[in-house]
Amino acid sequence: MSTPEIQRGVRLLHDPVRNKGTAFNEKERDALGLRGLLPPRVQDQATQVRRILENMRRKENDLERYIYLAALQDRNETLFYRVIMDHLDEMMPIIYTPTVGQACQVYGHIFRRPRGLFISAQDRGRIRTLLDNWPHRDVRIVVVTDGERILGLGDLGANGMGIPVGKLSLYTACAGIHPTQCLPVTLDVGTDNEELRHDPLYIGVSEHRLRGGAYDALVDEFVEAVQDAFPRAVLQLEDFGNANAFRLLERYRDRTACFDDDIQGTGAVILAGIYSSLRLSGGTLSEQRFIFMGAGEAGIGIADNIVAALMHEGIGQEEARERCWFIDSKGLVVRSRTDLVEHKRPYAHDHEFLPDLATAVERLQPTALIGVSGTPHTFTREILETLAQQCERPMVFALSNPTSKAECTAQQAYEWTDGRAIFASGSPFAPVDYGGKTFVPGQGNNAYIFPGVGLGAIVSEASRVTDEMFFASARALADLVSQHDLALGRVYPPLANIREVSAAIAIAVAEVAYERGLAQRPRPDDLEAAVRAEMFEPDYRSYL
Ligand code: NAD
Repeated sequence: MSTPEIQRGVRLLHDPVRNKGTAFNEKERDALGLRGLLPPRVQDQATQVRRILENMRRKENDLERYIYLAALQDRNETLFYRVIMDHLDEMMPIIYTPTVGQACQVYGHIFRRPRGLFISAQDRGRIRTLLDNWPHRDVRIVVVTDGERILGLGDLGANGMGIPVGKLSLYTACAGIHPTQCLPVTLDVGTDNEELRHDPLYIGVSEHRLRGGAYDALVDEFVEAVQDAFPRAVLQLEDFGNANAFRLLERYRDRTACFDDDIQGTGAVILAGIYSSLRLSGGTLSEQRFIFMGAGEAGIGIADNIVAALMHEGIGQEEARERCWFIDSKGLVVRSRTDLVEHKRPYAHDHEFLPDLATAVERLQPTALIGVSGTPHTFTREILETLAQQCERPMVFALSNPTSKAECTAQQAYEWTDGRAIFASGSPFAPVDYGGKTFVPGQGNNAYIFPGVGLGAIVSEASRVTDEMFFASARALADLVSQHDLALGRVYPPLANIREVSAAIAIAVAEVAYERGLAQRPRPDDLEAAVRAEMFEPDYRSYL
């Protein structure tokens, strides 16, 4: 990676990529014009980390902690990543879900410094030149949102920028993608959130959302501009509303290296959790019957991955799809319904219409419930008791975020199934003591998958990001779940192992790229070494 000329003096202290604060040593202070601009005592990074943790933990709530960490990222990125990487369990819920959701809701009110690129409808015709304003030229991952469906929180317009910013922090923290190779983008196409439009502190364009041809033209121009300005970049679509998400993925997936984490990343991480659950229950994938509560990006993405896995085992597509049943806001998704949008149709089976989840559980006798509707408390005691009567080790995956939206809590899942549920969630839940045993709920966090996918695509310079790569990622993740994890009821590895997970996934993804002729970089003799060499470590470098 090219390193631009080192700044001196105050400009160096204000450069977040190179600033080391009190860790500049005596010689550097003399050589770089820093003498007097820093307090005299030189401190090492470990001491600085101690100060950060002390300050951060003193804050009154997680939103304040989020603001504090964002400020650290703005002044010293190396220290920011040292803190995040070494305390991932504590930091992930602050820099990402659930706190990032709160931050996006009030983004205009807590706004200090901009981060990322904001592109609005007024930029039509000049997006390519606008990309030249970004200070780093070797961009390898672009995460873009239009803010229409932020987590489970709906349309937050330009406030959604917190999501690409947070996701890219995770790319660096979890897979070591260099911070200067990451570009967060918000396409500000307006918002249909009336409260925001009337908020004087809102940072976005206060107009209704752009739709139709004008919207498509803006996205097209953006994608082409990215391909031209950053030809080696992977484009990740993030938190688009569900009418656009499926469409945009179909439009661009064969044109450029592009994926949608809400659909494909979710699919892979949950498939990995299902594979681990099968090790606990002793069943096979083809013996399972899944009911999805919610037929949006997450649900369809997961079902598509289950179908791909079953097809890999030699089962036909139609038969594989019949293992997956969906309930949407109207009831069971069945063929006789005339109100189904395109992405639900492959899962509309020939069956009488059933009005709700309780009836569907009774009649369809599932082995797994997957909650992805963003509607809380829908896995009731009655439903889980019925499920547990029909199945020895049911999977209960309450994936809706944030925590307040979960279909049931970990405690409820274990209690209402007599300790037999294999539980996983979207947001973290604390361990639960039940029946003399401690259960540690696994979190089906997308961060297990997308950073490794990005790293694998970078190492191989993959020209496309394919479904097969996500399937390979799910297998790689499931392989890293230990007997010890399973004994605790945890279907994912501990988050603390995430860099190892990302490295394994990157290798699996790069292997697919090489096998399928999608790699634009020759295969290194030692792929694992090449992956590890690419991973950024947040250590200070010497400037002398
Ligand atoms: P989405 O908006 O694309 O889909 C939500 C779906 O739920 C829609 O089809 C909607 O019609 C349906 N729905 C809403 N209310 C319902 C109800 N009462 N009964 C039945 N269906 C109902 O959103 P998405 O991207 O699919 O995300 C859904 C949820 O899953 C969110 O809360 C999100 O945070 C969570 N999620 C979790 C993970 C994870 O754990 N790794 C990943 C992605 C999404």
